[in-house]
Amino acid sequence: MSTPLLQVRGLKKHFASGKRGAAPVKAVDDVSFDIEEGQTLGLVGESGCGKSTTGRSVLRLIEPTAGSVHFMGQDITGLSTAKLRGMRRNMQMVFQDPYASLNPRMTIGEVLEEPLIVHQLHDRATRKRKVAEVLDVVGLSPSYAGRHPHEFSGGQRQRVGIARAIITRPKLVVADEAVSALDVSIQAQILNLLKDLQKELGLTYLFVSHDLAVIRHVSDRIGVMYLGRMVEIGSCASVYSAPQHPYTQALLSAIPKEHPDQIRQRIVLQGSIPNPASPPTGCHFHPRCPSCMDICKTEAPLPKHTAADGYVTCHLYR
Ligand code: SF4
Repeated sequence: MSTPLLQVRGLKKHFASGKRGAAPVKAVDDVSFDIEEGQTLGLVGESGCGKSTTGRSVLRLIEPTAGSVHFMGQDITGLSTAKLRGMRRNMQMVFQDPYASLNPRMTIGEVLEEPLIVHQLHDRATRKRKVAEVLDVVGLSPSYAGRHPHEFSGGQRQRVGIARAIITRPKLVVADEAVSALDVSIQAQILNLLKDLQKELGLTYLFVSHDLAVIRHVSDRIGVMYLGRMVEIGSCASVYSAPQHPYTQALLSAIPKEHPDQIRQRIVLQGSIPNPASPPTGCHFHPRCPSCMDICKTEAPLPKHTAADGYVTCHLYR
């Protein structure tokens, strides 16, 4: 079996809580996963579960507190800023809000040319040609290069955001809630564009979303996060057809089945997500879990391998 393009082991990102003497907030707490080249891992969970922080830590847009990230066979967690800059052309990001991530004073042509200049790729004439090509690839007219971000719709701006991410021909793209701000019909167009680009360019995606329907549409594998920890990971088909973790079961029970004859019992979770600054002891999910046992309140469960080539972190599986 080939080496995965991305291997994340024991990733942690802790933030100071801001209060003197208070424990740090463990936004990401010992998260591990692999992504094979050309595949998509969808990271899902409620707001505040640490999925976006995981995506940013993988790219070192924020510095991880601990753990390792191997990308293209190299441990990038220890790379100097200069070496990391060289690596960045291979690892790009698509943001949730394309308008906020595009400089309003720059033309779209300038926005798209910038990564090529930063990475010293091509001469000026070739860069202009690359900009026209990438606009065409994402379904925008090359004649739009002279326009500014405010002249575009939300969906068009996200196409620009995707064009900016792929213009350096990266291997890995982290998409952070990339379609959350868009209307449902536009969402489908952007998701289909991302899938087409994956086939054409052999891209690997880490796709972060709170929306299970979106995650299902794009993912080969799914990772479910809760309060900074990965509670379940496995192939898309197995996690959707036979979720193991009580939290995954509850999340999936809230989305409609594909066929109206199929009945899924809705599991309504009690309470809301606890404060990450003072998470529950033992299994973080225990105050909301319908299957909670005594051991769950004191001992954090360890990952257990599943038949679906993944793992589940729950005392029900020992
Ligand atoms: Fe529920 Fe216990 Fe499993 Fe946590 S470890 S999900 S509380 S059964």
